[in-house]
Amino acid sequence: MAKRTVKDLPDLKGTRVFVRADFNVPLEDGRITDDTRIRATLPTLDYLVKAGARLAVASHLGRPKKGPEPALSLKPVAAQLQDLLGGSVAMAPDCVGPEVRKMAEDLRDGDVLILENVRFHKEEEENDPRFAARLVADTMATVFVNDAFGTAHRAHASTEGVSHHVQRSVAGFLMEKELRYLGMARDAPDHPYVAVLGGAKVSDKIEVIEHLLPKVDALLVGGGMAYTFLRAEGLVTGKSLVEEDKVELARRLLEKAGPKLRLPMDHVVAAAFKEDAERRTLPVDQIPNDWMGLDIGPTTISAYADQVRPAKLVFWNGPMGVFEMKPFAEGTLAMARALAESGGTSIVGGGDSVAAVTRMGLADKIDHVSTGGGASLEFLGGAELPGVACLEDA
Ligand code: ADP
Ligand code: MG
Repeated sequence: MAKRTVKDLPDLKGTRVFVRADFNVPLEDGRITDDTRIRATLPTLDYLVKAGARLAVASHLGRPKKGPEPALSLKPVAAQLQDLLGGSVAMAPDCVGPEVRKMAEDLRDGDVLILENVRFHKEEEENDPRFAARLVADTMATVFVNDAFGTAHRAHASTEGVSHHVQRSVAGFLMEKELRYLGMARDAPDHPYVAVLGGAKVSDKIEVIEHLLPKVDALLVGGGMAYTFLRAEGLVTGKSLVEEDKVELARRLLEKAGPKLRLPMDHVVAAAFKEDAERRTLPVDQIPNDWMGLDIGPTTISAYADQVRPAKLVFWNGPMGVFEMKPFAEGTLAMARALAESGGTSIVGGGDSVAAVTRMGLADKIDHVSTGGGASLEFLGGAELPGVACLEDA
């Protein structure tokens, strides 16, 4: 179900808006090392600023354990936003309380107030209704704009709770884009639709596999999770990553899927989990004792790429091998290239897959690179995300 967006809000001039963004950026010694998430939400902030709204912007950052932690302050984010947005960007000392209220009162049209890390209060993750009410009251907001897709699978005070205390709740542009593209990956409007799934474990992706199987024309499996399936087919897998307690489930999935579900034909095996380990490329039914499979092999790469390139719709989650080590990055690199070359709509989701595509410099050749790791997987598994459910339907 499509959601209303900031575009559906008439006459924003002077309107006080509570924006939930995802500013959960990586920090090193107080410096932001990757500002992708900040930039991703700029279209929404820019639109609201230009429309003359008065913004209070909330986010979490990291996992504070008990109360405020200076190292997890959003101050560096506010400084970065000041550069990117121009105009007036102020930093609040907290996300609720009299000082926030005072700063909110002082906002003029087009001004931005960045609230301090909402997870400095344990009530945030508890979705405490009184805390949600305070977030809205102290920022004087009448409208909730959720642009934090990456946190939308959590029902927290700033992602869901606040919606019960405002007049209107709508999606920001990033949220809208995530829902549009991941909605395609979930509902399969175009065919042939090919899904490529890899990564470490089957257990992380069971819902996604079960949800996608009936929708896709082909499901190409690689990465560590292929070994649980290969074991289910009766192959010897050496020291490869196998989830013993999921072999039976893998057998059932293979049966249900039939020829749609494809497994690697060859792999790169290594004597140890090390960059400089001795390695060989072999058919999947061959692996020396005590060796482990760490990447898909060239025959698999070309077979998978041949299915990806002509597809009308491709969704990829999970690296094809241990791409963090160069000798085992070839399969992941080749899949990223195949998606980049595909003429159809290409979508990548999942924390490590997105990191791989970005590191390979191919992110701008892919139609949609999701900012939501866990959220995108829950969404594709068919779950309704609380931070989305609470927004007005279009
Ligand atoms: P995503 O975050 O994109 O959903 P996952 O977290 O499921 O992906 O998996 C990513 C991890 O899987 C990477 O760290 C990668 O090294 C690992 N991986 C991929 N293939 C293998 C393999 N054959 N053996 C062990 N680990 C693997
Ligand atoms: Mg991951």
